[in-house]
Amino acid sequence: MVRKLQAQGIGHPGVLAAMLAVERHRFVDTALVPQAYEDTSLPIGLGQTISKPSVVARMLELLCQGRGDRLGRVLDIGTGCGYQAAVLSHLAREVYSIERLRALHEKARDNLRAFRLANVHLLFGDGMPGYPQGAPYSGIVAAAGGNQVPQAWIDQLAIGGRLVAPAVTSGGQQHLVVIDRTAQGVTRTELEPVLFVPLKSGVS
Ligand code: SAH
Repeated sequence: MVRKLQAQGIGHPGVLAAMLAVERHRFVDTALVPQAYEDTSLPIGLGQTISKPSVVARMLELLCQGRGDRLGRVLDIGTGCGYQAAVLSHLAREVYSIERLRALHEKARDNLRAFRLANVHLLFGDGMPGYPQGAPYSGIVAAAGGNQVPQAWIDQLAIGGRLVAPAVTSGGQQHLVVIDRTAQGVTRTELEPVLFVPLKSGVS
């Protein structure tokens, strides 16, 4: 899987090492284990999916680009099965990962138990307002996309911090959006089209 990611242009050594370290098959149902290292999203229950490895790698590479060895505090919106949070634990000092569906929050807790990742904090709640208790973040990454990037997320970015999230752009299609916060203000870059599950309000 990691060799394929490299062939697809992922070059960040930290991201490649983190994706090599975290066994993706441990996050999917037994029946899906044979497909765990294919470049495909897979169902994790409640209509949600674990993102494609190439998309996880792309987003984390964007998040890490040009910011040293290790990120500081990172907010991961949409824990799902916990896979991306586990990968992030190798790239950031602290990972706050929030999920609005209780059953998935609990699934992630079960999946991550054996990894003993002391720097991952799993939170049950609505990630729309971000998680101010952990702010400011050097990175924010979302695995669910809405019509816009919530202002609260941008407000919770540290100076020098970066946000990577899917969002609907002016053309009406979902794209990867990168938002950088600098001392001078905020810059927004729209990248390639993507297909993520919807960002929803409230918990369930
Ligand atoms: N990173 C996850 C991907 C899960 S799919 C993984 O590695 O498995 C995206 C997740 O975002 C879903 O579980 C969905 O329930 C969650 N989500 C959607 N809107 C949310 C919100 N407002 N707050 C927190 N989680 C949300």
